[in-house]
Amino acid sequence: MSTRLPLVVANWKLNGDRDLLTNMVERLDTLNAEQVEAVICPPFVYLSEDTASIQKGAQNIASQESGAFTGEISGRMLRDVGCYYVIVGHSERRALFGETDDIVAEKVKATLSAGLIPIICVGETDEERENGETLTVITRQVKAVLDVLPSFSDSIVFAYEPVWAIGTGKTASCEQAEDVHNEIRQILAGYNHELANTTRILYGGSVNPGNSKELFGSDNIDGGLIGGASLDVDSFMTICENA
Ligand code: PGA
Repeated sequence: MSTRLPLVVANWKLNGDRDLLTNMVERLDTLNAEQVEAVICPPFVYLSEDTASIQKGAQNIASQESGAFTGEISGRMLRDVGCYYVIVGHSERRALFGETDDIVAEKVKATLSAGLIPIICVGETDEERENGETLTVITRQVKAVLDVLPSFSDSIVFAYEPVWAIGTGKTASCEQAEDVHNEIRQILAGYNHELANTTRILYGGSVNPGNSKELFGSDNIDGGLIGGASLDVDSFMTICENA
């Protein structure tokens, strides 16, 4: 039995509003914090709202600390408004905003140096899976980050999100997900055996109230990164309860 506290993260993307945040916080606040940690990542403008005992996360971060970078938000600013986590390298940022492995690595460094915890997203596309390249892609993405950090610390979370499962209604089977999670843990063990066991690895990609229990029941799946289903209070609450 794992001693890793399950973590369930709501990635609202470009959705939600202040009312949803208020309602969500009210319900999540009733969860038993010793059984599951729930985090909300709303758009930047809502990050300074009071979310009681529920931790907040940002969906992105600038790799720079300050300066002439119009439209960017730094780690120090995120920390200043009470943010605790940062989603880094989401496949939408990689595909739509040109974030390469190198940029993702820089953003992870910026996150850690601001005292925040990165939730580092990795995952293969449909084509890469078809071509049998899943593990090559995952290994490249994980190593791109760990190779540039002075040391692998336990303040890092990984999220395996197969691109073909995001927002598509197609979920990886428990076996498919568990295989990749196990592989990520092996890669981490190559850096630090002990930390590989304590690092949380989340699954993301069309997680819903119906499939979450089975997914979260897998040995190496420590919770989820939830998109669509995190926009409905009841659904997200059920997913947290299933973790
Ligand atoms: P989804 O999104 O749950 O809507 O598939 C997950 C994500 O993009 O993090």
